[in-house]
Amino acid sequence: MSNPEFDAIVIGGGPGGSTAATVLADGGRRVLLLEKEVFPRFHIGESLLPYNRALFEELGVWPELAAAAFPRKCGAQFHLGNGSLATRFVFREGRFTRFPEAIQVERATFDHILLKHARQRGADAREGWTVRRFVSRPGGVGIEAINPANEIQQFDAKFLVDASGRGNLTGNQEGLRETHPRLRKLAVFGHFTGVRRDAGEHAGDTVITRLENQWFWLIPVSAAKTSVGLVMDQAEFNAQGGAPAAAFARGLAASPPMQARMAEAKPVGELQVTSDFSYRNRRFVGPRLVRVGDAAGFMDPIFSAGVYLAMWSGRLAARAILQSLARGDDGARRFAAYERRVRRGMSFYWQMVERFYTTPFMEIFMNPRDNLSLPAAVNAILAGELEGNWNLRWRLWIFFVLIKLQARWPLVPRLRFDASAETEPPPPTT
Ligand SMILES: Cc1cc2nc3c(=O)[nH]c(=O)nc-3n(C[C@H](O)[C@H](O)[C@H](O)COP(=O)(O)OP(=O)(O)OC[C@H]3O[C@@H](n4cnc5c(N)ncnc54)[C@H](O)[C@@H]3O)c2cc1C
Repeated sequence: MSNPEFDAIVIGGGPGGSTAATVLADGGRRVLLLEKEVFPRFHIGESLLPYNRALFEELGVWPELAAAAFPRKCGAQFHLGNGSLATRFVFREGRFTRFPEAIQVERATFDHILLKHARQRGADAREGWTVRRFVSRPGGVGIEAINPANEIQQFDAKFLVDASGRGNLTGNQEGLRETHPRLRKLAVFGHFTGVRRDAGEHAGDTVITRLENQWFWLIPVSAAKTSVGLVMDQAEFNAQGGAPAAAFARGLAASPPMQARMAEAKPVGELQVTSDFSYRNRRFVGPRLVRVGDAAGFMDPIFSAGVYLAMWSGRLAARAILQSLARGDDGARRFAAYERRVRRGMSFYWQMVERFYTTPFMEIFMNPRDNLSLPAAVNAILAGELEGNWNLRWRLWIFFVLIKLQARWPLVPRLRFDASAETEPPPPTT
């Protein structure tokens, strides 16, 4: 391809795309980012991880985010739906954790800040442009897009970053998407005012409430608004008649502590539903093409890792492209290394997520004993330490062995999900 107009094209202006575009523009490259929506727009995925902070600082966007005064997230709470057991991970207590707290965000505001930042750094970031398809060419890639006036336009670049999220543009075009066979989940969610929060530093925590086969999230996204969602099997949702409000109400009815938190809650708009979010593409890279964030794969929202993984992989992809541009090669070896690294990082989470849906995992997880600093290691992974060193890996391995043992011999008491189990005292409230 003779002298394409851009060094790189980025599809999608979510956290993965904005991160990649910022790093490429900071590297002095001509980058075009096409986003199909006009920001600010709603997006799910509002609880961030402490390790996001290092990325914000590296991108130079932390001052804008700090000015937005998002709620501070100092910990994550896990409760049983019947109120019989609860545990709280406090990020600053994680022995292997480098960052003590995170933020909770309204994605409309957060994504807009990241996109504007990419533009300020020099990326040509255009909203209202939908990419329809891509084509590999010798020495580059081409894309076809629809502009806001509904006209087709084509662009060429030396490299393509697919950050189209669950739109999964290039993966779908190549038929690479594989859904997780055992995690056919669905989420019913919405924003509410008047949700009861805990007092003091606990007020910004993510609160997860685990029922036997379902779980709720509760994420304070602003001073007034809380994001509340219920995750359940698609099959169960369909068997119950497929009505979101009824499914949500049934979930609440099964959990007195959740009912107490939601007693004064008022919905802000309709409940929304999303499903089929556990998948990955068979390949994360192609000729002069790198997939980042959800356009590579996504597992499950339980550990709030999606935005962090998107930004982390967006930065790695952009760095691999910058090196390839500097060397004047096609990046194939670097992209293969990128794929190995991102798969390893994601698999850290995927192992945790797969086990989360088993009862022995919950039994060990909800009864942390400070042996061998195992809770500190789990804490670090929940904070975003996905490339942990050997110290972390062997502890995680023991944690998984304990879960296997627990399945056969109870090392800690068995959990009871039924309503008659003893209830914990209500948490302190504001
Ligand atoms: C129910 C649920 C709850 C979640 N909760 C959390 C959470 O608490 N914390 C967390 O970190 N993550 C959470 N996630 C995951 C999180 O939403 C994603 O992992 C994250 O948004 C991925 O970022 P991304 O940049 O890869 O994609 P996205 O944020 O989805 O951005 C992709 C962008 O690409 C644009 N786009 C798509 N197709 C095209 C096209 N053809 N042309 C141009 N633009 C296009 C889209 O409009 C979008 O703006 C949750 C996910 C689900 C399903």
